[in-house]
Amino acid sequence: MTFETQRRTAIGSGAENQDLALTGADWAVVLDGANPPEGVDVGCTHGVAWIVGRLGAHLREGLDAGEGTLADVLRDAIRATVDDHGPTCDLAHPRSPGATVAMARKANDRLEWLVLGDAAVLFEDTTGRVPIETDNRMNELPEPPDTAEGIAEYIARYRNQPGGAWFAGAVPEAADHAFTGYREVPELRRVLLCTNGITRLTDRYDYRLPDLMTLATTNRGPEALIDAVRGAELTDPDPDRWSGKKHDDATAVLVDLH
Ligand SMILES: [Zn+2]
Repeated sequence: MTFETQRRTAIGSGAENQDLALTGADWAVVLDGANPPEGVDVGCTHGVAWIVGRLGAHLREGLDAGEGTLADVLRDAIRATVDDHGPTCDLAHPRSPGATVAMARKANDRLEWLVLGDAAVLFEDTTGRVPIETDNRMNELPEPPDTAEGIAEYIARYRNQPGGAWFAGAVPEAADHAFTGYREVPELRRVLLCTNGITRLTDRYDYRLPDLMTLATTNRGPEALIDAVRGAELTDPDPDRWSGKKHDDATAVLVDLH
């Protein structure tokens, strides 16, 4: 049984890539920093890419150490990232930046997974089926109001709050609200971790989950997923129907288990 990884990340329409892909001997992670609206106070001057980088470094330490559950590793990484901020940073700010996370780790015959926010883990099992694990809580919240006060109130009510949506950033407890589980390694061929810049292929366009796995396992690897999503975005007959960036940062890690 092996744990071979290939990873790719591509910047979208923004000024910096706020996604990150990391891999180790028996683990893989993708992170997707959530961009606050431009010009809005978020309580500190550390940017989203900085926070994603600190989270990634601390996740690497925890995963290489190999102790605790994935939620434990994430909780410790958030706590350590909080400590990396300076004394003038207001981490209680409701808009304090955070990231979505997908993690996978092989522990003997178990492939453990964790998702927080709409990053995803896809599993190709030995029968060829491709189930997915993701966390769509942010997309199931009511529509935000359109006044500034209304949005502030909405964020304070739903962001990293019970009944709302949780992100890895300023609140270590968010790790306890991640979705977690495991699958039996002998029943799996491959695992694919993606940020939502990649799952636009199934969320917006006509791809099915097995198509994503097929693309990722061509000789171009995860790069083929990025090409496919950019192609779909560029040929979208009505791109204005979607909110968000024209091209989102897009990141994928393919793990081959055999
Ligand atoms: Zn800060």
